[in-house]
Amino acid sequence: MTAPDSPSVPLPARAEWDRAAAERADPDVLESARADTATRVLVVSADQAPLATPTSLSWMAPADVPDGAEWALLGRRPDGAAVLAAVFPASEDPLFAAPAGWAGLRTIGGALSAEDAGIFVEAVSLGRWILDAPHCPACGARTNLVDAGWSRRCPNCGRQHFPRTDPAIIVAITSATDPDVLLLGSNALWGSDRYSCFAGFVEAGESLEAAVRREVEEESGIAVGTVRYRGSQAWPYPRSLMVGFLAAARDDAAARPDGEEIVAVRWFTRAEIGAGLAGEADFTLPGRTSIAHRLISEWHAGTA
Ligand SMILES: [Zn+2]
Repeated sequence: MTAPDSPSVPLPARAEWDRAAAERADPDVLESARADTATRVLVVSADQAPLATPTSLSWMAPADVPDGAEWALLGRRPDGAAVLAAVFPASEDPLFAAPAGWAGLRTIGGALSAEDAGIFVEAVSLGRWILDAPHCPACGARTNLVDAGWSRRCPNCGRQHFPRTDPAIIVAITSATDPDVLLLGSNALWGSDRYSCFAGFVEAGESLEAAVRREVEEESGIAVGTVRYRGSQAWPYPRSLMVGFLAAARDDAAARPDGEEIVAVRWFTRAEIGAGLAGEADFTLPGRTSIAHRLISEWHAGTA
């Protein structure tokens, strides 16, 4: 199975952003938010958004958004201002000129603040579903977008549909015997000196723990004992939720790459990982804004 894309956005702050989910059932919430001059809008065209500076999003007033958008309520800022998404399909030319141009989430996500990155991920994830899933999967009729953009109701068969999220596991492997080594792999799609965690999508009917055991054994040859959950990160390529774990090997000597997705596996000492995190090694580790970096750095600091 193809490994999911590696997320590169800051992990959300502990104080969760308010998605205002309780307001979605109000059929007038979008209209009243669009009439409020305090409301701020993030325009997304597929996975692209306008930038105010090279490291910040360009927020707009509702009245300045071009016609033709699908609208959704993303949440409320601490000051109470509503935040809306105005969703447009992919466009070859920018919809309008932005102060610092337009950029995709993949390109700019790591440079944004945690709050902007989180809202951008939310807008792209929801927007992709709004654009890609207009028809009822049960009967094929065109559905109506309801609940402030968060569900679709079929006027023909009455079913209600919600945005999908595909869980994927991401794992760093600890040793059966030596607390000071960690197993990472090098993916065939990367440069040969780049190492990261093992990852793959959860299959239909599979638990997260079973997915960890299966993917780790497939990619690294390692049978896994204890599996510990460490955190998660949403990533809308295409609609993943990366669920991070540390897993303990039963036998370190079994490590070998699958030769397809993973071309090399290597046990790194704590000192080597420290050098890698500091950018002072002959190999590279995942970027600071990824959940893979967090799994590796927490293990290195002894806090995982
Ligand atoms: Zn239907």
